[in-house]
Amino acid sequence: MQAKQCFVELRCKECGRAYPKEAIHVCELDFGPLEAVYDYQAIRSCLSRRSLAARPPSMWKYREFLPLEGDPVVGLHVGFTPLVRARRLGEALGIRELYIKNDTVNHPTLSFKDRVVAVALSRAKELGLSTVACASTGNLANSLAANAASAGFQSYVLIPADLERSKVMSSLIYGARVIGIRGPYDQVNRLCSEIAGKYSWGFVNINLRPYYAEGSKTMGFEIVEQLGWSLPTHTVIPMASGSLLTKIAKAYRELVQTGLVEEKRFAVHGAQAAGCSPITEAFRRGSDLIRPVPQPSTIAKSLAIGSPADGYYAVRTIRETGGAAEAASDEEILHGIELLAETEGIFAETAGGVTVACAQKLAKAGRLSGPGPVVLCITAHGLKTPDALEPRLPEPPVIAPSLREFDALVAVDGEALWT
Ligand SMILES: *Cc1c(COP(=O)(O)O)cnc(C)c1O
Repeated sequence: MQAKQCFVELRCKECGRAYPKEAIHVCELDFGPLEAVYDYQAIRSCLSRRSLAARPPSMWKYREFLPLEGDPVVGLHVGFTPLVRARRLGEALGIRELYIKNDTVNHPTLSFKDRVVAVALSRAKELGLSTVACASTGNLANSLAANAASAGFQSYVLIPADLERSKVMSSLIYGARVIGIRGPYDQVNRLCSEIAGKYSWGFVNINLRPYYAEGSKTMGFEIVEQLGWSLPTHTVIPMASGSLLTKIAKAYRELVQTGLVEEKRFAVHGAQAAGCSPITEAFRRGSDLIRPVPQPSTIAKSLAIGSPADGYYAVRTIRETGGAAEAASDEEILHGIELLAETEGIFAETAGGVTVACAQKLAKAGRLSGPGPVVLCITAHGLKTPDALEPRLPEPPVIAPSLREFDALVAVDGEALWT
């Protein structure tokens, strides 16, 4: 891939002070987060819809909008997941033009986290790091472990000790050094900050965060290209730290800024689990101050961040774009997973249930109205959280291999047997 170098520097999101492109993430002056800055004039002059269409279908199509200095070396097949026209779910939710951005089939670990890890580890290689690590609610752990294995990094994964067994196994299998921490995610993350200060490792969500976070933009770029180069009117996005939501909005703005798409009003909406909804609560209060949730309690463990790093920016982005935020109970989350599976044949993990359930509430409240497409971001596969559904699904009936028994079985009301 012959990509032009358009990544300029890191800059404080608050005061604008410039920083070199190192493994750093906060401003020394005001502790604001550092963010990657690009030469949009250069991007505009070297990219066109036609040149992008000719590139291989992966997130690296949008390479010029990502904070690397050379070609990517990790996660070369990540992204360009399907954008599915969801007519049956749209009918159920009362949404005319509904699409699912289906990151349940992302490569290699079936979640959107493959996007952020691909950028963080490619940058870690450029910075000469040999050990990478993360604090994770599960999906980041899986993706870091897999991508570190294939790229030859040593990896450490720190997780809350009560994480789903399936997610723990899906990190261990790759040879990652998994460590369970007694306490919620925020304490895991705080410990990781201390470790990052002492060991010269690349923590993808701490000192590599400015690189990592930019990977989320590719979900937004792909949505726009897959809609035939137009911005969706509404995008519903699950929120943990709030980073994905702010980065999808950033991607939409960057495409306008570089002339790749026509300017149009777009709203981004946030979805959280009721048992851990600090960003949605701030939105409801009309504030941008996030009140931390000390003890999250929800089956959507992948979204259970009580003190979200980008919560402030997420709630501001929601408000600035005219979006809204919702929260879903565990019961509503499970119903959302089932509804998506039964209408579209897509099996999502609990975060997907959160997104569908919140979209249902937003639609009911008239928040997803107006002409144009509505996109739901479905961010990880259901096989990652089978535990959540275990008590919900029936034991299938068992019969002898006999036509007589089969006839008797199907003569019974199916609703009674399979729901
Ligand atoms: C991490 C994650 C998100 C959102 O993460 P942010 O921290 O808000 O960027 C959404 N869905 C799933 C399944 C995740 O694992």
